[in-house]
Amino acid sequence: MQFENSREFAQKLDQQDPLGSYRDQFIFPKVNNKQVIYFTGNSLGLQPKVTSKYIDEVMNDWAALAVEGHFYADKPWWDYHERLAKPLSKIVGAKTSEITVMNTLTVNLHLLMVSFYRPKGKRYKIICEEKAFPSDQYMLQSQVRFHGYDPDDAIVEIKKRKGEHNFRIEDILSTISSVGETCALVLIGGVNYYTGQVFDIKTITKAGHEIGAFVGWDLAHGAGNVQLELHDWNVDFAAWCSYKYMNSGPGNASGCYIHERFHNKKDIPRFEGWWGTEKESRFLMKPEFTPMSNADAWQLSNASILSLAPYLASLELFDEVGMETLIQKRNLIVAYLEYILHKIDAEVDSTFEIITPSIQRERGTQLSVFLHGEGKRLFDYLMKNGVITDWREPNVIRLAPAPFYCSFEDMYDFGQILKQGIKNKN
Ligand SMILES: *Cc1c(COP(=O)(O)O)cnc(C)c1O
Repeated sequence: MQFENSREFAQKLDQQDPLGSYRDQFIFPKVNNKQVIYFTGNSLGLQPKVTSKYIDEVMNDWAALAVEGHFYADKPWWDYHERLAKPLSKIVGAKTSEITVMNTLTVNLHLLMVSFYRPKGKRYKIICEEKAFPSDQYMLQSQVRFHGYDPDDAIVEIKKRKGEHNFRIEDILSTISSVGETCALVLIGGVNYYTGQVFDIKTITKAGHEIGAFVGWDLAHGAGNVQLELHDWNVDFAAWCSYKYMNSGPGNASGCYIHERFHNKKDIPRFEGWWGTEKESRFLMKPEFTPMSNADAWQLSNASILSLAPYLASLELFDEVGMETLIQKRNLIVAYLEYILHKIDAEVDSTFEIITPSIQRERGTQLSVFLHGEGKRLFDYLMKNGVITDWREPNVIRLAPAPFYCSFEDMYDFGQILKQGIKNKN
C-alpha cells in the first residue's frame, strides 16, 4: 500500500479498519483534556470498559453468597480458571488441556523450572539471550545457584554481533549446538522486550530438542501480540503475563502452557498444592495427591478470582476478534508508524534509527527507536503532549501501537507532535 502522511489518509485507513469500533471499548487516560496516544500497551494494556462488570459480578456474588459462591456464583469460583483455558489456547496455539492460569509470570517460570530444569551430571547449563528482561536474569541466576552451580559457568548467553541490534538465527543455533549435551534447558523471551525482535520459536525449539534439552519460552511480549503455535512447534512449556498486550490489569495473573506429553508423567516432578488435585475428589481432603490430568496439575492454591475476572473479560474480547484480525491490523498500523517515522526523520533532518527488525515476520507490535542526538528532553515533550511511550536507557523509546485500540490517526498525530518536539530544540 502506498502510504501518505496526511490526516485524511489516516482517517481513511481508520474507516476501513475492522477493529475501528473496538477503540471505543477501552478507557484512555487524558492529557490536556484529550485522549492520549497510547504506545505502552506492551507494558500495561488499557482497561476494557467491560472489565469492571466482571469484577462487580464477583464482588456481588461474594456479598450475596459468601462461601457458597464457590459453587453457586454465576460463574462458580471453584473452576472459574477453566473458563480462561479455551480462549487462551487459541491465542497461543495450544490444546485447552495444555493451558492453566495461576500466580504471576516470574513465579510461574520458577515453578515450571522445578519441572524442566533438573540439572544432572554434565547436563546442567541454561541457554538464554543476552540482556534478557531483568526478572528472567535474576530467576535463572537464582535457580542455578539453588542447584549449587555458578551462574557464570552454568548460564550461557546468546550474543548479538558487535554493532548489531538483533540476534541472528545462525548465532542462536550455533550456540545451542556448541553447548550440546551440557545443556539442560533453553529458555528465551519469545519477543525481545527491548527491541521487539520476534524469535523463530519453532526452529529454536527443534534445535534445543536435538541436543536433548528442554525448551521453554517467556512470552510476556508474545502472547496476544504474535502468532503462536506452541503445541505444533512442540514447545515444552511457556508462560506469559496478562497485563501487557492482554489488557488484564496491573500485575495480573499469568498463563502457562505445558505440552500434553508431560501430563500424568511420574518422572516430571513439580511443586504441588490442593488446586492441582483431581477436582472431583478435591474436597474429600485426602492425604494423597491425585493430579489433574492436564496442565491444571501445576496449580497450587485456590484461584484468585478477583484477578481472573479482568483476565476473562479481556479474553472474551480477544475471542470475539481473533488473533488473525488483530495481526492483520497490527501489520498495517506498524508499517504505517514506520513510514511516519521515516517521513518525519527526513523532514527534520534527524537521525532516528529503528532498531526493531524491518522484516514483518521478525517483529510484532513494537518499534524501538534509537534517538541519536535526541534525549530525555524529547521524551518529556512527547509525554507532556499526550504521547504515552516509554524510555529505555541510553536513549531508546519503545512504541507499541496496540491494534485493539490504537488508530491510524493516532500515528499521524504522533508524527506531528514528534516533529514539533524536535523543531522546538533547533
Ligand atoms: C514484563 C516481563 C516480565 C514481568 O514479570 P512479572 O513476574 O509479571 O513481574 C518478565 N519477563 C519478561 C520478558 C517481561 O517482559
